Amino acid sequence: TQRFIWPMAQFGQIINMYQRAYASAARIFGLMDEDAGIDEATDAAELAVTDGRVEYDDVTFGYEEAPILDGVSFEAGGGETVALVGPTGAGKSTALKLLLRMYDVDEGAVRVDGTDVREVTLASLRGAIGYVSQETFLFYGTVRENITYGTFGADDEEVEAAAAAAEAHEFVTNLPDGYDTMVGERGVKLSGGQRQRLAIARAMLKDPEILILDEATSDVDTETEMLIQRSLDRLTADRTTFVIAHRLSTVKDADGIVVLDDGEVVERGTHEELLAADGLYASLWGVQAGEIDALPAEFVERATE
Ligand code: ADP
Repeated sequence: TQRFIWPMAQFGQIINMYQRAYASAARIFGLMDEDAGIDEATDAAELAVTDGRVEYDDVTFGYEEAPILDGVSFEAGGGETVALVGPTGAGKSTALKLLLRMYDVDEGAVRVDGTDVREVTLASLRGAIGYVSQETFLFYGTVRENITYGTFGADDEEVEAAAAAAEAHEFVTNLPDGYDTMVGERGVKLSGGQRQRLAIARAMLKDPEILILDEATSDVDTETEMLIQRSLDRLTADRTTFVIAHRLSTVKDADGIVVLDDGEVVERGTHEELLAADGLYASLWGVQAGEIDALPAEFVERATE
């Protein structure tokens, strides 16, 4: 389906709107048909992002009967970076799927600059949100096509500027055909760190007001790690960002940290505040820093379910 959708973007802006919405929907969490039950309001407006403020207001949601998120409230001010942390299954991805309207809340609301996401067109909502994950989706096509995926009418200069900001330009120019090198299935194999930087370049070019970053845990060497961190710093600067954080070292500098456990917000604050609170975050941090050996038992059980 991807390969079919992609060339359609050449035909014009209108097609591109759908392509963008479709592309991001498909990209997010790699799920194609998950939003099948989502209807656009007949009077849906175009989302106009002003500050990029995102608010979760007492959100309850379950895929089935049982709530996965239960009365969850948190927010990100325009341009802020907010890290979601907590054990596997806590509901971090689910919370962000609601921002994209992959699903609708059962109770409460998710708002962007005060507007309920259910009141705007899916294309405008998803067009405003970028997504970078460790499982970068590369289709069979050139590096250039992969970077411009989701953006209309970018010229070569813009593509290369985005790649440079993503610390990808150098390795791309060293590929057999540079930006025209075929990658993806049947193409030149790229390392995890290289794929990640192409994903960052793609997001740079799209330049969304809001970014969702599913942080990588993949093993890359120290230098690649540094390049990725530097490019992510550029990407997230002055852009509302939610990070699904796996490494606590990268959330230290977040403007806010939301600790989710079993579908509830159990703690909120900055790194220093949460360490001082000596709760679950402090436990997680202690384990990562090697200061304590293990998480509290009930936490571990859920994390390894
Ligand atoms: P996290 O991102 O914190 O690891 P998730 O949001 O992925 O947590 O998952 C929260 C809970 O929702 C888990 O119990 C998971 O099994 C469940 N879940 C996730 N996706 C689905 C789905 N598509 N259908 C049903 N249950 C799901």
